[in-house]
Amino acid sequence: MKVRIGNIVIGDGNPVAIQSMTNTDTKDVERTTTQIKRLESVKVDIVRVSTPDIESARAIKEIKKRVNVPIVADVHFDHRIAIEAIKSGVDKVRINPGNIGADWKVKELATVAKEYEVPIRVGSNTGSLPKDLDGKMERWEALAEAALREVKILEDARFYNIVVAAKSSDAIETIKAYEYIKARIDYPLHIGVTEAGTYESALIKSSFALGYLLYKGIGDTIRISIAGDPTMEVIAARKLLSFLGLRKEPQVIACPTCSRAVFDVEKVAREVEDILFKYDKLITFSVLGCFINGVGEGKHADAGIAGVTGDKMIAFKNGKIYKEFKKEELEKVVQELVNGE
Ligand code: SF4
Repeated sequence: MKVRIGNIVIGDGNPVAIQSMTNTDTKDVERTTTQIKRLESVKVDIVRVSTPDIESARAIKEIKKRVNVPIVADVHFDHRIAIEAIKSGVDKVRINPGNIGADWKVKELATVAKEYEVPIRVGSNTGSLPKDLDGKMERWEALAEAALREVKILEDARFYNIVVAAKSSDAIETIKAYEYIKARIDYPLHIGVTEAGTYESALIKSSFALGYLLYKGIGDTIRISIAGDPTMEVIAARKLLSFLGLRKEPQVIACPTCSRAVFDVEKVAREVEDILFKYDKLITFSVLGCFINGVGEGKHADAGIAGVTGDKMIAFKNGKIYKEFKKEELEKVVQELVNGE
């Protein structure tokens, strides 16, 4: 099933979209817009903003005028805030109808969301499982059943423009819950490991869980939740999709370095990544600390560089030497290699 979130369509074979979330006060339009623009600069597809009150919901109207990326309002409990966000032009609402209360409130929200063609993301979190499910079955199953319960509430209100998520901080629970849900419903799934932790833990947990699910064809939007700068979430998600062959992006492969390296491989590889970031064509670029194995070591890359001695490097392309150059010419040479000049 397809769902439109602003100018992005997910589900039904459409490309997997990358989400992140601002950590600013949404009422502070200036700071929130600045952060969204930073996320846009690293090619985020969808941005969620916390919407704890009516003022935040109203601020979305101004934010929407200043950014291009679709905005999701993250609302808890109060359907009036969700309705205000929709009327402010938000592209998706994340709210759990099970937390809204009376049926008429759910119906009121569903009616407005339908009128404005705004999808609703529902879901579950291991931190807030319903009491009648928690402890009565395995936690991943309770997580999945809780998400399906939220879906059912919206369906009972004749609302079907739905995205579903089931969040655990455990990678295995995440996998099992999403497999269970995928086997039962056809709505697009937003996948992620919640509270995944600091950079390294978040990367490893999310790469394992999301990598597995995406490889199995499960997941329509992803968030790699990292405690820290949200732009890192987007860059990590882009790399994951690229390594899975789900997004065409430049890739930098770098040798692990050893005593033969004649330059700081990590530093140069990061510089090359930054340069390649400007280009959307699929290119694999190799960064080798030395030229001991000649071009051969980088032959699986489309192009690359290797250290020679002192401040000299060799550039190669399609398995052939392109030219020798000085370190300070790095950016110019990488551009030549990428652009075929
Ligand atoms: Fe060492 Fe050279 Fe191999 Fe890098 S390419 S690991 S520097 S031998």
